[in-house]
Amino acid sequence: MNKLVLIAGGGIGGMGLAVALSRAGLNVDLLEQTPEFSEVGAGIQLGPNAVRVLSDWGLSNALQAVAAFPDRLRVRDAHQGTVLGELALSERSRQLYGQPYATIHRADALQVLLQAAQAEPRVTLHLKERARSVCELPDGVNVLTESGRHYMGDALIGCDGLWSVVRRHVMAGPAGLVPGNDPPLDIPPRFSGHIAYRGMVAQADLPDSLRTQSVTAWFGPKLHVVQYPVRRGELVNVVAVVEGRQTGNPQGWSNDASRTELLQTIGAVHPQLRDMLEAVTLWKLWPLNDRPPMTGPYEHAQGRVALAGDAAHPMRPYLAQGAAMALEDAWTLGRLAQKAQATDSAAPIPWADLFQRYANGRWQRNARVQANSISNGKVFHADGLLRWGRNAAMSLMGNTLMDKPWLYSGPPDLA
Ligand SMILES: Cc1cc2nc3c(=O)[nH]c(=O)nc-3n(C[C@H](O)[C@H](O)[C@H](O)COP(=O)(O)OP(=O)(O)OC[C@H]3O[C@@H](n4cnc5c(N)ncnc54)[C@H](O)[C@@H]3O)c2cc1C
Repeated sequence: MNKLVLIAGGGIGGMGLAVALSRAGLNVDLLEQTPEFSEVGAGIQLGPNAVRVLSDWGLSNALQAVAAFPDRLRVRDAHQGTVLGELALSERSRQLYGQPYATIHRADALQVLLQAAQAEPRVTLHLKERARSVCELPDGVNVLTESGRHYMGDALIGCDGLWSVVRRHVMAGPAGLVPGNDPPLDIPPRFSGHIAYRGMVAQADLPDSLRTQSVTAWFGPKLHVVQYPVRRGELVNVVAVVEGRQTGNPQGWSNDASRTELLQTIGAVHPQLRDMLEAVTLWKLWPLNDRPPMTGPYEHAQGRVALAGDAAHPMRPYLAQGAAMALEDAWTLGRLAQKAQATDSAAPIPWADLFQRYANGRWQRNARVQANSISNGKVFHADGLLRWGRNAAMSLMGNTLMDKPWLYSGPPDLA
């Protein structure tokens, strides 16, 4: 039986999903809107839960070759420089969770997944194909792209990010299919009030005092900065988040930004932090948009169409778990498909049932991560009494506050 799944979007989530589904024995047509598979020049942290997914796909060596494995997470006051708390990462993470904590250039993460997908004969990658509309039929799904082509599959998974087109179809819900019923309205993504400035610098270009193999988070009123090594530790990724108005292209991840403007906005900070910000010459600006935490499984799937990653649950980056949740979604779908194939590989896959199982099993964890990310943002940027309370709590139980066993021991296996 020829089982074909369509995936809209070839970012970290969509590419991971192509690997997971092809390994389960399914054919995959992946549609990506851009002319090449590429990622912006920025880093991401991959907690042990995300590394577990990559390791299960046999990608540990590929990850080892390009990622960095920071020794610890250190939180410092952005003005005084005081160390507020510390959590040992790499070795401790291996001991507690069986996987290390990694930090990686986004382009390297995508490349690892792309190479794995390209090695699978069941995966066909289509570039310059932007999904425009979705039509669900009794025995399949049809996707019309901007180029005018139609793609037909047994099921569709939207991995098309924050501004997802596939989401519109899913959120129309069953009511949308009943004449006379108004489909439930989906709210558009909302601006968080936070803007991220992102940049990178080679360790070789830094003085010894600024070179680092740790994750450092600097907290100040209405701002925070996170820095960590990527690309085998050869580069340092820096992200500075400030509060402000929506600026630049809201859908753009790479608006031009100036270092002078960032330094002015950040104001007087600890000299070591200022020196690091000054060392980065090229900055890009990223207005942070999200959606409120998911409120039910209906935001994950409808019939033969499902959503994964940011298309379903975009989040603020303050738990560093958006890509990790996209990978967890992909892994879960792969496991469920594998189980369906193992039960009877000749029978058609009951996609609507499989997607309901996925949606019921995933939405609460994704919602919890979204909610935690929002509250972390408030704590990171705290001023006054809340800032005092945060600092006191961190000095008393920093380890407990920074470690997340419920998260890092995932993903839960629903198969
Ligand atoms: C400042 C910042 C820091 C972050 N740090 C971390 C971190 O440390 N750790 C972490 O895990 N996460 C982090 N994240 C979150 C992470 O970047 C996202 O959650 C992750 O990229 C989501 O992956 P995705 O594949 O779901 O979506 P995306 O990465 O948005 O990929 C979507 C893909 O779909 C394509 N596409 C869009 N529309 C269509 C269409 N209609 N048809 C075809 N293709 C389409 C796009 O071109 C793109 O390739 C951070 C985010 C930000 C903003």
